[in-house]
Amino acid sequence: MPRSEPIKAVRGVRDILPAELPVWQAAEQGATAVARRFGFQEIVTPILEHAELIERAGEDTDAFAKELYRFVDRGDRALALRPEATAGVVRAYFERGLNQGPQPSRVYLIGPMFRYDRPQKGRYRQFFQLDVEAIGSAAGALDAEVIELARDWAYLERLQAYYRPLKERLSPDSQQRLERNPLRLLDSKTEQDAPFKSGAPKIIDHLCDECAVHWALVRRLLDAAEVEYVLNPYLVRGLDYYTRTVFEFFPSGASGQQDALGGGGRYDGLAEAEGWPPTPAVGFASGLDRVTELMAASGVDVITRPAADVVVVPDGDLALEAAEVARICRAVRPTAVDYESKSLAAKMRAANKLGAKWVVLLTPDSSARRSAQLRDMSSGEQEEMDWVELPTRLA
Ligand code: AMP
Repeated sequence: MPRSEPIKAVRGVRDILPAELPVWQAAEQGATAVARRFGFQEIVTPILEHAELIERAGEDTDAFAKELYRFVDRGDRALALRPEATAGVVRAYFERGLNQGPQPSRVYLIGPMFRYDRPQKGRYRQFFQLDVEAIGSAAGALDAEVIELARDWAYLERLQAYYRPLKERLSPDSQQRLERNPLRLLDSKTEQDAPFKSGAPKIIDHLCDECAVHWALVRRLLDAAEVEYVLNPYLVRGLDYYTRTVFEFFPSGASGQQDALGGGGRYDGLAEAEGWPPTPAVGFASGLDRVTELMAASGVDVITRPAADVVVVPDGDLALEAAEVARICRAVRPTAVDYESKSLAAKMRAANKLGAKWVVLLTPDSSARRSAQLRDMSSGEQEEMDWVELPTRLA
């Protein structure tokens, strides 16, 4: 690459800009709230794992190996950037002794995952998932619990609760959209496969006795939780480790693979595949990239917080004074300083754009007296006061 070429982002990865972040934060807050409501605790596991850990979880899955960011580090270890969270969470569960605590261990994780797939809209090489796992119990009620949790998050009562106080500030369409937007669990097969489906044996007709009892309980609990779902006897999830229950969830009206918001299931065999004692577990992972795209597309206006409540505007060569006044104001309010050498009018416009509630205006004269003009940006009122009075007025 010639030296003069600017270096751009790696293919398939994205920056999330300040203006986009409120939607992400809303989605994350919703996820955290709903996970906590169900008694799940946050866990953070490394992005780097031994490649073997990941590979054992997806041994027979071709696509899985092809998509793995796998590399040899400087110490000749085969490592991988995690493509999903479950393998690492199960490792941590044993290695760090969560298996010795109360069972099941209910944990959730939010973080970046990496897959070397062909990038397109809704599919990235670095993307973000909410991952929810209940490890250490075979109870069918837990399968229903994580599906209910996923439903609650995706069309989330908590997210709605977050938005309801903001309702008046949303567009009329978005206000309606706030009301229940039921989630559908659907088959995600392409049309091309459709003619063959009807003739295939249905797994539902071939359950062992224990699986049938388990399945009946899961369904009774889903019905009781009023989870809207479509039974799909053909649903095959990407990885090998699922047993008994698998599910995907979609925004209502959508069913294409690219539209899936998340999916998961029970994986009673995974711990053993990783070399740990056999341990039943169930979980799901859900993509924040798609959820935030959906939120943005459905016109949900998340209220953007101003970058700074206060902007200190020096009129003249007053950088030292401006920095000191900003330090005083920061005791009570997020405060930025405009150090640029442009006209006062231009600085006031910039402060307005930032969404500042107040401007503290410094002139050489007032600064010499250690005082400033405090301007209320919504009323336009302006009054002179000593620097030391600012925190009381801004609080
Ligand atoms: P999976 O771990 O494959 O079951 O994926 C769970 C969810 O993560 C999907 O339903 C998507 O919402 C999201 N997801 C998976 N792969 C990607 C990707 N490459 N880019 C963006 N989101 C993804």
